[in-house]
Amino acid sequence: MPYEYDDQNIFAKILRGEIPNDTVLETEHSLAFNDIMPKAPAHVLVIPKGPYVCYDHFALEASDAEIVDFNRAIGEVCRMLGVRPGEGGSGYRVISNAGSHGVQEVPHLHVHVLGGRPLGPMISSR
Ligand code: AMP
Repeated sequence: MPYEYDDQNIFAKILRGEIPNDTVLETEHSLAFNDIMPKAPAHVLVIPKGPYVCYDHFALEASDAEIVDFNRAIGEVCRMLGVRPGEGGSGYRVISNAGSHGVQEVPHLHVHVLGGRPLGPMISSR
């Protein structure tokens, strides 16, 4: 079953400028902004501007230009946050939740970039 994109989701509204956001970085195909309920001292969401529901949708159907732009944006956010281990930072975690088991709340692809404190185990239980 193909993905159906709901253009009334909150990130679509952010991209249309209908609700405000705390922008960290904007590129041709991507937007990064601070999470409204941060789970760590640094918690930035990176989203593509295109109508992709989740990671696999984007990875399989986005253009090469969008995929490159999105991944570069994630790297640039890591640099801006000062969390890159290769630049003396303490590290970070990148998470993208998808679907019901992934506990995805907003049906527009987003990657969480978390850092600024030890983040603990990847998941709490099996
Ligand atoms: P997920 O569970 O992966 O879908 O995460 C959705 C994330 O979006 C949560 O961490 C929310 O705090 C965040 N969020 C929801 N609305 C907004 C908003 N208006 N601005 C920034 N972040 C938001």
